[in-house]
Amino acid sequence: PVDGGIVVGTDRMNRIIEISEENLYAICQPGIRTIEIQEAVQKQGLIFPPDPASYKDSFIGGNIAENAGGMRTPKYGVTKHSVLGLEVVTATGEVIRTGGKTVKNVVGFDLTGLMCGSEGMLGIITEATLRLLPAPEATSTVRASFKTMEEACHVLTKFTPEGLLPMAMEVIDRNCIGAIEENFAFGFADEANAILLVAVDGERSQVERESKLVERILIENGGFDILRSKSVDEENKLWDARRAISPSLMKYNSLKINEDVVVPRSKVPELVARVEEIGSRHDTFVANFGHAGDGNIHVNFMCDREKPETIERARKAVMETFALSVELGGTISGEHGIGYVKALYLDMAVDPTTLQVMKGIKNLFDPKGILNPGKMFV
Ligand SMILES: Cc1cc2nc3c(=O)[nH]c(=O)nc-3n(C[C@H](O)[C@H](O)[C@H](O)COP(=O)(O)OP(=O)(O)OC[C@H]3O[C@@H](n4cnc5c(N)ncnc54)[C@H](O)[C@@H]3O)c2cc1C
Repeated sequence: PVDGGIVVGTDRMNRIIEISEENLYAICQPGIRTIEIQEAVQKQGLIFPPDPASYKDSFIGGNIAENAGGMRTPKYGVTKHSVLGLEVVTATGEVIRTGGKTVKNVVGFDLTGLMCGSEGMLGIITEATLRLLPAPEATSTVRASFKTMEEACHVLTKFTPEGLLPMAMEVIDRNCIGAIEENFAFGFADEANAILLVAVDGERSQVERESKLVERILIENGGFDILRSKSVDEENKLWDARRAISPSLMKYNSLKINEDVVVPRSKVPELVARVEEIGSRHDTFVANFGHAGDGNIHVNFMCDREKPETIERARKAVMETFALSVELGGTISGEHGIGYVKALYLDMAVDPTTLQVMKGIKNLFDPKGILNPGKMFV
C-alpha cells in the first residue's frame, strides 16, 4: 500500500450468484477467478468471451477495473462489451447500481462503461452482471510463416472482403521466433521472419469452410509452411508457439520493458517497421508480438537491469513508440492501462480539456483521493 493506505482484498467474495441460460447473463462477486466463470458457464453450453492470458490467475473485479482484452477481441470485443451491470461501493461509502441484466439499457448515463477500465480509482466493484453467449460448436486455427513482418501484417485486412471475421489474429516477429526456436525448437524455417495465427469459431461445417478460406488467403498473400488444425489437440499445439514467447524473450537480456500500444490495424505494418527503426536508433533490442487483429502490439524493449544506461535508452525508445502510436491514430495502451508506470505519459494521448473532465469525474466519485492514490494522474 502507498501513503500508509490499506489493501482491500475481494478474494473471499468469490461466489457465482446466478447463471441464466435463458437470459444469457451471469451474476457474480468480484473475487472469482476468470477461469472459474468460464468453466461454470461452459457446463451450460455458454461462454464468457473475454480471455486475458492471465485468466487462470486474474479475478473478474480486476478484469473489469482494467477492461482486460484477450485473443478473442477481434470478434468478441474487450471486457466492457461483456459487462451488463455492476454494483459499486464508492469512496464516499455509497452503493450504486449501474446498468442491469439486459444488453439494451439507455436509462441515464452509461456508468457501467465508465467503471470498466477505471483502474480501481472510482469505486470498488462488489458485484457484476456479465453477458454470456452460446458456446461455438468448434474452433480451428491456421498458422502460417512469412518472409517479412510487413507481409504477415498486410494479410490482416484481407479477411473482411471475403466476409470473414476471425476470432483471433496474432502475429509473432523474427526476434520472438529466434527466442522460441532456441528454447523449444518448434522447427520454423530459416526464412520465417514472421508468423501469423488466425482462428475461426462457429458451427462445425462453417468452421471447416472458413478455416479453408483462411488457409487460401494466407497462401495467396505469401504465407508458407501452413498448418490448419483439425482437432483440439492440433489446435493447442499450434498455439504453443505463441504461449512460449514471453518466457523465451528473457534469453535476450535480464529486463523486459513490455509496452502494449494499439493502432488501427491497417497501420500495424508501419508501426512494427518504425518501432524496429526506433529500437536500432537507441541501440535497444526490440521484439514484437501480439494481437495484430485488433492492432494491439506488445512491443518488448530488452535491457540489462544491472546497466542503467540500457534502461535509459529503452525509456527513450518507449517515449518515441508512444508518440508514434498516437501519430498513427492509435494510443499508448490497448489493455494494460495507465496505473503508476504510464501516468507520466497520459497527456501524450489525452488532450488537456479531456484530462480535466477525467479529473473532475475522479473528484466526484472520490473527493479525498483515497482510492488508488497516484494512479493515472501525476
Ligand atoms: C502473465 C500475464 C498475462 C496477462 N495477459 C493479459 C491479457 O492478455 N490481456 C489483458 O488485458 N491483460 C493482461 N494482463 C494484465 C492483468 O492480468 C489483467 O489486466 C487482469 O485483468 C487484472 O486482473 P487482476 O485480478 O490480476 O487485478 P489486479 O492486478 O489485482 O488489479 C488490477 C487493478 O484493478 C483494481 N481492482 C481489482 N479488483 C477491483 C474491484 N473489485 N473493484 C475495483 N477495482 C478493482 C486494482 O486496484 C488494480 O488497480 C496480464 C498479466 C499477466 C501477469
